[in-house]
Amino acid sequence: MARYTDAVCKLCRREGEKLFLKGDRCYSAKCSIVRRNQAPGDHGQSRRKRSEYGTQLREKQKAKRYYCVLENQFHHYFELATKKKGVTGENLLIILESRLDNIVYRLGFAMSRPEARQLVTHGHFTVNGKKVDIPSYLCKAGDVIALKDSSRSSDKFKAVLEANSAKPVPQWLEMNLETLEGKVVTMPTREDVDLPIEEHYIVELYSK
Ligand code: SF4
Repeated sequence: MARYTDAVCKLCRREGEKLFLKGDRCYSAKCSIVRRNQAPGDHGQSRRKRSEYGTQLREKQKAKRYYCVLENQFHHYFELATKKKGVTGENLLIILESRLDNIVYRLGFAMSRPEARQLVTHGHFTVNGKKVDIPSYLCKAGDVIALKDSSRSSDKFKAVLEANSAKPVPQWLEMNLETLEGKVVTMPTREDVDLPIEEHYIVELYSK
């Protein structure tokens, strides 16, 4: 059986499915879950059936981990989502997707959301010309996200942007590799969220 030495991958193992927390590795054959499923003697299929509550809770935990959000903040986003027009579950995902750290990741400035969160916290980015070091900052249409001047010559960013250059940027965002600026062209829709989240379970959980 494959060995699990990485703490982040252990989260996926505990959930029994991929949480996509390590960037490119998650999409490759190096993914621990993929390796595990190929390993002989795997008993993953024999997991017990979950209760309705268990399924709802698990879906919420998955969404929190995908976006690196803690419970209080996640609940706050849910409250925000209920106050917006439209479908609450979809609103919730759109709010999560519009976090600055997620957009930094989506634009290709980082290899994973956890890394993007750390880079934002370390003050590498500006929004509309002003430094923003709050990963939960909610961006809106028209916002311009850029590497701050002193980070532009960093070899690390050059390497990451190069590695991510073949990855498509979502259609609601625009990335200019010359100016190292990204723009929120329009707010994302439910269809733009490509993570395997069944948000109706989360709504059901909070509606109890
Ligand atoms: Fe690790 Fe990513 Fe695979 Fe999860 S999906 S096990 S984080 S490589």
